[in-house]
Amino acid sequence: MDLPALNAELEARSARERLAWAVATYGDKLLFTSSFGPGSGVLLHLWSEVAGGLPVHFIDTGFLFEQTIAYRDEVVKKLGLRLEVLKPQMEKGRFLEKYGLTLYRDDPDQCCAINKVEPLEAALPGKLAWVSGLRRDQSKTRAETPILLSTDGPLKVHPLADWSARDVYRYLEQNGVPEHPMFEEGYVSVGCAPCTRPVMPGEDERAGRWAGSAKTECGLHTFLKAKG
Ligand code: SF4
Repeated sequence: MDLPALNAELEARSARERLAWAVATYGDKLLFTSSFGPGSGVLLHLWSEVAGGLPVHFIDTGFLFEQTIAYRDEVVKKLGLRLEVLKPQMEKGRFLEKYGLTLYRDDPDQCCAINKVEPLEAALPGKLAWVSGLRRDQSKTRAETPILLSTDGPLKVHPLADWSARDVYRYLEQNGVPEHPMFEEGYVSVGCAPCTRPVMPGEDERAGRWAGSAKTECGLHTFLKAKG
């Protein structure tokens, strides 16, 4: 695969065309994950139209807002999606017994590794590509996100890489896709409850995640090493 040429070609295509290309190329070897956060509705809506019933994977860390679970169920029903829930290997009670109530604060990288990255890793064997909703305008650390990224695991596919937040919210409105119920309260990015606060005017979209610490990513999008 000539990745630079393919990336150049896909840059000129719509998000729907990029996603359709990934589905046609990889079929059931394509993994799609969604956090069912603010803005997630765009890719979920496109997926419902082009993926031919392939599932949406959702990582339930056990620390999510109840509004996220309710939003997930609402969108799954409205769009007729097939949901597959990925859970940590260590059941929540056992996790709290072993690590206590504050691992998210004392060692958030380990907390994310156990509750987010490991469940994803368990879903990767046999998958050749992985679709997610990363966008360049979400934060400085995502500013160089390509449409396709070759890694030491599956090819990462980012159909919305060049979309702005404005594009996202316009799409949701025009297509009648509901938005996450916490969005109007300033939560423009929503992860686990202990590690998410609303975003202040002028801040990056992801500034409310692990605020006050140097951490900017949970690890889902950094544990695979980029190649080339
Ligand atoms: S986002 Fe916070 S609570 Fe969730 S897995 Fe990571 S550190 Fe733990």
